[in-house]
Amino acid sequence: MTTQADRPADAAGTTWVLSFAEGHRGMADLLGGKGANLAEMTRLGLPVPPGFTITTQACRAYLAEGHEPEGLAEQVEEHLRRVEDAAGRRFGDPADPLLVSVRSGARFSMPGMMDTILNVGLTDETLPGLARRAGERFAQDCYRRLVQMYGRTVLGVDGQLFEDVLDQARQRAGVRDDQGLDAAALADVATRFRELLREHAGEDLPQDPREQLTRAVRAVFESWNSPRAVLYRSREGIDPNLGTAVNVVAMVFGNTGERSGSGVCFTRDPASGHRGAYGDYLTNAQGEDVVAGIRQPVPLARLADIDPPAYEQLMGHLATLENHYRDLCDVEFTIEDGRLWILQTRVGKRTAGAAFRIATQLVDEGVIDLDEALRRVTGEQLTQLLHPRFAADQERRVLARGLPASPGAAVGEAVLDSERAVEWAAQGRTVVLVRPETSPEDLPGMVAAVAVVTARGGLTSHAAVVARGMGRTCVAGAEGLQVDLERRVVTGPGGQVREGDVISVDGTAGVVSIGELDVEASVVAAALEDPGAAPDDELVEAVVRLLAHADLRRTTGVLTNADTPEDARRARRLGAEGIGLCRTEHMLLGERRHIVEDIVLDRDRETAFSRMHDLHREEFRGVLEAMDGLPVVVRLLDPPLHEFLPDLTELSVHAALEEAAGRADEDTARLLAGVRRWHETNPMLGLRGVRLVAVVPELYAVQARALAHATADLLEKGFDPRPELMVPLVAEAAELAAARRVIEQAVRAVADERGTTVSIPVGSMIELPRAALTAGEVARHADFFSFGTNDLTQTTWGLSRDDAEASFMPAYRESGLVPTDPFDSIDVDGVGRLVRIAVAEGRATRPDLGLGICGEHGGDPASVRFFAEVGLDYVSCSPPRVPAARLEAGRAVVLAEGASEADTR
Ligand code: ADP
Ligand code: MG
Ligand code: MG
Repeated sequence: MTTQADRPADAAGTTWVLSFAEGHRGMADLLGGKGANLAEMTRLGLPVPPGFTITTQACRAYLAEGHEPEGLAEQVEEHLRRVEDAAGRRFGDPADPLLVSVRSGARFSMPGMMDTILNVGLTDETLPGLARRAGERFAQDCYRRLVQMYGRTVLGVDGQLFEDVLDQARQRAGVRDDQGLDAAALADVATRFRELLREHAGEDLPQDPREQLTRAVRAVFESWNSPRAVLYRSREGIDPNLGTAVNVVAMVFGNTGERSGSGVCFTRDPASGHRGAYGDYLTNAQGEDVVAGIRQPVPLARLADIDPPAYEQLMGHLATLENHYRDLCDVEFTIEDGRLWILQTRVGKRTAGAAFRIATQLVDEGVIDLDEALRRVTGEQLTQLLHPRFAADQERRVLARGLPASPGAAVGEAVLDSERAVEWAAQGRTVVLVRPETSPEDLPGMVAAVAVVTARGGLTSHAAVVARGMGRTCVAGAEGLQVDLERRVVTGPGGQVREGDVISVDGTAGVVSIGELDVEASVVAAALEDPGAAPDDELVEAVVRLLAHADLRRTTGVLTNADTPEDARRARRLGAEGIGLCRTEHMLLGERRHIVEDIVLDRDRETAFSRMHDLHREEFRGVLEAMDGLPVVVRLLDPPLHEFLPDLTELSVHAALEEAAGRADEDTARLLAGVRRWHETNPMLGLRGVRLVAVVPELYAVQARALAHATADLLEKGFDPRPELMVPLVAEAAELAAARRVIEQAVRAVADERGTTVSIPVGSMIELPRAALTAGEVARHADFFSFGTNDLTQTTWGLSRDDAEASFMPAYRESGLVPTDPFDSIDVDGVGRLVRIAVAEGRATRPDLGLGICGEHGGDPASVRFFAEVGLDYVSCSPPRVPAARLEAGRAVVLAEGASEADTR
């Protein structure tokens, strides 16, 4: 993010400060959201107090250099003079002082993360001058606010200390709120506050207004790197290198008496989307009081009685803003002695449901068209609407809080290991798997559970990734959670549960509660899965309408990852146009792993192969039938075979114990020898995928034969099966050619045997850099490519996802070394480049080459947009993500045609 102009050599010539009249809403990168919108409102002629913005670039320079860049002080001085002229008052003038606010404002709003200081410029010397404006009480009120905010923000004094002093003052005066404190009491408070500053920070409020200003600006710069801001950014995926802008604004006063006040409002109802003004108003208050909830505000409508002309004006300005931004805006305003001032606006935050409602309502009002409406909702919001949630208004006994790793709401008995989860689930019990962390061995337990909770791990930990892929609710990295596998209890900051106790997991909020909470199903999900039964509901209508528009606009197909007929049917109801990834290893887990074990260890292979064939045939039939008439891409066996074998260490210990006890067992010894032979130090880069063809060629032959038979079975029954096979982990065209020979031979044999034609296209996964770089050659043997972007990301970056997440990836994100996790959102510059190369060279060899992507990225909105842009035919994602992928594929098209207004607002 460091640009040329950030360098000190150019500093003197750089513009670090812009007055409100010089900016506009397109400049949010430089001016922050707040500054850009203050400028825009100034241009619109709304009553914004005079002021200026110190750019984010100045902040970056300050943070890089550790001091103000050259030229900044002079520019601030010059702009301050302009504000003085506009306001008709001088900063630091004892007779009639100009006061200013110093307000943070980053590119992306970070609510409550950074700071604002009001009434800067007030000193012992200027206080009497301010008092002449609206009385002694008013001036003292401003003073104590300044000392408080300066003490907290600039000097880092604990805010609670100030609250305690205020409490005592109220008690002494026998009043409920600050309104009841008179000038003398407030002067007392300010004095006590200043003592706090001296006591806890070793210095007093500076009595030089310019020093107050400089230090306040510096504090706002530095608040960018406060621990809570750092944490917030890493959670929200905001680039830590952006920096914040600082707005310096002439103060207007809502606390001069009964004819003054402050308020916050929306131009329409942020929940329902209905037009009208909604908000809160507080008489005789500075703006911070409304947000802080110190006193109970009145509904905005009451302002119509309190101050009719100001209310009328405000309504006019709200209309102006909505027409201009063509969206819901929220607004902060202050009335000083009957005169209205607008202090902030932005396109208002809203819930996922409101986003859909408001977008369609604006279409109905003729304000925007359907394309723009589509740009204003996201797949992420849609996904949120599909998850069940816990009913509001119920008491929660929080056991622990963690990361919202996979959304949803689930209730079940806590169970502490995978085996027991499977066992209990088989008895018909509903279980939540609680683990210190998960590994591939926990997969059966995760499948059996309704939710997964881990004590360790981030948003891309194994538990999180797998849970999201399967649509299981998950809270990962629950802070302070201890899973005691000996005593079978789970202890968290909020209490303790034993294995078997019921807990409630809120994967949307990242909260684990003790006991059972009431769950509400999502009406939107119900309606999408069963359009016939769609209720007459405004939100459902809005979602259905925008999804239909996305389907109309998109050029990318949406397939699903599914291994079972149930998943396939569900995905199909949600709009999936086939299966892009049907994993065969999932069909061989659990008890069935013995089949693979027999094959690997060479124990009666013939029987094992024929059992494998029969199992596959039946399962393939189920999946093909569920997706009748649509493509089903089956992936041949992919994982390292050792995943099907007993663990080497455990088995060695077992054997050693047997031997020590004098009952060495021959079976154990043989098993151990076999497991040793197949053991690898780095199995993910070892014998797996297409490499198996060289060692156990029958494996792929058996799988291909089973698929061919399943197809023939269905053809005979009059179905329209569309199977395809893809070969994983290809690095070299010759590997694919070898696999293809095995497959084709097997399929031909079945066709001959059954006297039908069975056609099964064969494709290559592109998940190793070498395959992408030699795609022209690979395409000579492939009917289609399917990009496996999980492995492609791992091998391009040369890192293992689970290990990276456990060790350095969190630190990388926090320090901004990677702006976003490449496993969450496709790394366009690196991995994306390989995709582009493979697409171009593959299609050069074979113009009709099919192109798709399967993997976590298929459900990520930004990635889907990228895949659409490079021209892939389809993306494939887990069933619950299908609607979001449809929406995002449509958005990809409309966003490419016209930048969203959302980006320039
Ligand atoms: P936040 O980003 O937390 O909303 P703001 O910078 O908007 O912080 O300021 C906090 C409060 O102070 C708001 O209610 C705002 O309206 C009020 N405020 C900020 N600047 C001024 C000003 N120049 N005059 C009067 N009130 C102000
Ligand atoms: Mg504000
Ligand atoms: Mg892979």
